[in-house]
Amino acid sequence: MEEKRNGLRVILFPLPLQGCINPMIQLANILHSRGFSITVIHTRFNAPKASSHPLFTFLQISDGLSETQTKDDVMSLLAQININAESPFRDCLRELLLESKESERVSCLIDDCGWLFTQTVAESLNLPRLVLCTFKATFFNAYPSLPLIRTKGYLPVSDSEAEDSVPEFPPLQKRDLSKVFGEFGEKLDPFLHAVVETTMSSSGLIFMSCEELEKDSLTIANEIFEVPIFAIGPFHSYFSASSSSLFTQDETCIPWLGNQKDKSVIYVSLGSVVNITETEFLEIACGLSNSKQSFLWVVRPGSVLGAKWIEPLSEGLVRSLEEKGKIVKWAPQQEVLAHRAIGGFLTHNGWNSTLESICEGVPMICLPGGWDQMLNSRFVSDIWKVGIHLEGRIEQKEIEKAVRMLMEENEGEKIRERMKVLKDEVEKSVKLGGSSFQSIETLANHILLL
Ligand code: UDP
Repeated sequence: MEEKRNGLRVILFPLPLQGCINPMIQLANILHSRGFSITVIHTRFNAPKASSHPLFTFLQISDGLSETQTKDDVMSLLAQININAESPFRDCLRELLLESKESERVSCLIDDCGWLFTQTVAESLNLPRLVLCTFKATFFNAYPSLPLIRTKGYLPVSDSEAEDSVPEFPPLQKRDLSKVFGEFGEKLDPFLHAVVETTMSSSGLIFMSCEELEKDSLTIANEIFEVPIFAIGPFHSYFSASSSSLFTQDETCIPWLGNQKDKSVIYVSLGSVVNITETEFLEIACGLSNSKQSFLWVVRPGSVLGAKWIEPLSEGLVRSLEEKGKIVKWAPQQEVLAHRAIGGFLTHNGWNSTLESICEGVPMICLPGGWDQMLNSRFVSDIWKVGIHLEGRIEQKEIEKAVRMLMEENEGEKIRERMKVLKDEVEKSVKLGGSSFQSIETLANHILLL
């Protein structure tokens, strides 16, 4: 049944990355269910599939990227589209506002914190802008202080200090810092500064998070950015991320899982951006094979550097992997994690994947690749204690040990029990009367009054 419309239209503009498109489309669904009409402006690169969302209007703008251009380096990609998309976006938004009818006013723009020009464009057109942050609030709160932390001299880290927490950024450890900053160094500073400035000028900040996961960080976010904060919960609890998948999902995963015992399968996926070397890939393969546990492994084509897909595996290794496992190019992750057969998740701890795992009560093995994943994984292993951290050791023995520990041993059972408690708490937050549920109401009212 069509929900009652409230005569207001919200314009959404996701960054063209899987981990940013999923939450934005989920947010679109949440707002649509509260009566708002939805228009999604998107780049040509990684365009969401309009036909999967017949209730929304989709408008494509030029991003100036060529078909052949490599898009692997996310920071360069973001820098380039932030330049290329500004003018087409401005034209598109202006046109939309001109066309906006008395009967259906455009109330605001909601876009990703990674767009740097949208605040200025929105202001010039007199349109309020809200920011969607797809990171954990604790990580976003560190944006203003990251340049300072970089110059504090923690790097390079000596062995004796590796496990010390970063005083300005707990529970991050000093050994995590090099992977937070990557090779960008001071080149990041203008980007971070722009994100902070444009967020502070916005009309509100939306987190896919909840008080049960980070109450203090949400309070701090309010103090830092000085705008209304809306922590409206893990979006996955309301709408599945599957409909906005940019890759074809291998649906054979589900019947395959149907043939496995309860909680017997470890799901392995490093998300849509992380790449690994061939050596690391082979270490993971041998670790999984030697663990003798069943597994479902997503190997995204192109994610093993120098290979198209899984050709670095020898025939013998493929045979031994096939005895207990299944390798696919892309999975319907949320459905997989919700399956009774899944007992663990070896993950890169992207914020979406981490939340999806918590919402389904699946304990994790943490193998973060960089940036916010370093912090998310510390929360999983050190604060919530619902996972085992590999500490970057992509070695077959370590992987075998962690998989066995999680799936077979007492320690794994304790982790699973703690995960159940965390899942239940988060679940409460999205139910009637819960903190996220209430925050959605507050957000909807905020937009109505803009
Ligand atoms: N995902 C998926 N199938 C896969 C792997 C990932 O649908 O085989 C989805 C996953 O459910 C999540 C998103 O892709 O919603 C990945 O986002 P995340 O923030 O975890 O990591 P990123 O890809 O941005 O590094």
